Amino acid sequence: QLGNDRAMKIGKKLLHEMHDNYRNDNVVLTSAIHMLMRFGDIQSAERVFHSIKEKNIITYGAMMKGYIENEMSEKTLDLFEQIHLKLDTVTYTIVFNACSQLANDRAKKIGKKLFDEMPDNYRNDNVVLTSATHMLMKFGEAESAERVIKLMRNKDVITYGALMNGYNMNGEPWKCFEVWEEMKQRDIVLNEIIWTILIGACSKIGMIRQSQYILHQVPLHIQNQKQVQNSVIHMWGKCGSVEKARNVYESVDDRDTVTYTAMINGFGLNGMGSEAIKLYREMPNNLRNEVTHICVLNACSHSGFLHEAQNIYNVISFKTEKIVTVMIDCLSRLFLFDEAQKLIDEYEKKNSPNFVMYMCLLSGVRNNRNNNLSKKIYNRMKSLFPDAKQGLVSGTILLANIYSSVGEHQLAKNFRYNQIKELRSKVKMGLSWTYVNGEIVQFKAHDHSHPRSSEIYAELDRLTGELIEHDYKFDSSWITHQLREEETIESVLCGHSEKLAIAYNLIQRPLPDFIQITKNLRVCGDCHEATKLIAKIRQIDIIVRDANRIHHFHKNGQCSCQNHY
Ligand SMILES: [Zn+2]
Ligand SMILES: [Zn+2]
Repeated sequence: QLGNDRAMKIGKKLLHEMHDNYRNDNVVLTSAIHMLMRFGDIQSAERVFHSIKEKNIITYGAMMKGYIENEMSEKTLDLFEQIHLKLDTVTYTIVFNACSQLANDRAKKIGKKLFDEMPDNYRNDNVVLTSATHMLMKFGEAESAERVIKLMRNKDVITYGALMNGYNMNGEPWKCFEVWEEMKQRDIVLNEIIWTILIGACSKIGMIRQSQYILHQVPLHIQNQKQVQNSVIHMWGKCGSVEKARNVYESVDDRDTVTYTAMINGFGLNGMGSEAIKLYREMPNNLRNEVTHICVLNACSHSGFLHEAQNIYNVISFKTEKIVTVMIDCLSRLFLFDEAQKLIDEYEKKNSPNFVMYMCLLSGVRNNRNNNLSKKIYNRMKSLFPDAKQGLVSGTILLANIYSSVGEHQLAKNFRYNQIKELRSKVKMGLSWTYVNGEIVQFKAHDHSHPRSSEIYAELDRLTGELIEHDYKFDSSWITHQLREEETIESVLCGHSEKLAIAYNLIQRPLPDFIQITKNLRVCGDCHEATKLIAKIRQIDIIVRDANRIHHFHKNGQCSCQNHY
């Protein structure tokens, strides 16, 4: 349990000097395995394990659990496949946990088979079912997880927590609030873990009004816990309210790594690069970790602060893969492709090539509309990463966008079609959501499913007219396909999900005092320009969070990102 230096010394000495009589005792040896695994001494644990002649299920369990604790879940599965004993509930839980940790093809196969074949008498066990729920959620199979939950009669806080965490993981954070309703109906008292998950859901959705509503209901003694305060800072940052984040930040007495990092990230996301750098410099050196470095470099990148980024980057002593990637992203955004390539080359001297680094480069090249360079990078990516299917699809779309932007629609279309067919993956659909009248409403592109759809499209027509009156030019370079007969440039671009969400806000009476939208992908250049003008024409503040950052469109027609997007 202690696992500290003193414990390690005493424990190992005791094991070493143990009388031979005890070396046949399963219970003693099993707890020795448990202890050694806790110390991270896997070799010794394995030695003890192999010395046991008649291994029972508990011995196997100790060993498998130890591997998980040491993040060696593959070994847990190796060992599991050697067991020829009757499994107990603990084994099921351990194997499900190992499969969750890995969530790769092998883990999915083993985990699902084990669950399907699990005898009925284990299907009443909350602990087993909760870990199965967690596993299925990690596999991205939310519906199967929901079926498991339905089986359970006495759901407890931990079960609900696993379910909510799963929704957050699988991009359905709004479902957490349905679970919360169910918990309220069943008079289950929420602990700080559940509140933290709910606050996490608010962060993912990113709506100021909804977050405020939820936060009001968190009991004060829970609100004052540091872990909760930290996640509230993060939440406000992600909602685009730096002021609220700062207020909470200032109320924290003993700020830790997470407190500082959440605040730095909040500044960065909202285009306040100087504040992010200032706080990073104030933060005690020993508290900074990898995430902090990444957040501050991102902040520099979003604000276009190249020199600050380089200064910070150069003095980071241990440059991890992610830190190098952020720096490459920063250079690519500023169109410093040679410099970015240099960092990649340097990195590849000691490491195998990293897919994300190339994506950053390609994305910068796309914004620079550099046709030849992007083709070169894309082809290199295809030869370096033949198996990165989903990622290459994003690359394909970027490159097709480049072709379109220089007017080569047919080329773009053919390329997109052929490449995606070859990669056999689905394109991620663009979604926007907004919070209106206490409800989250979601739109996809060209969505007609909303009951007020005809009003939404009528409002879009009005907006288009107003934009054109203000000399707005729709930017056809953001259209990725050739127009069909019934389409116009305006009709394609106005169907983007964020424009639908804006129109939906504008048909509300009374009008909201500001509009807030979250989008799962990057906002396109045309929507960005149009939104600036809509904010100005209609005199309403619009906050849009995209996959990358938060844009504050002001009534004067400016965006906080100053076009660094
Ligand atoms: Zn758009
Ligand atoms: Zn912007």
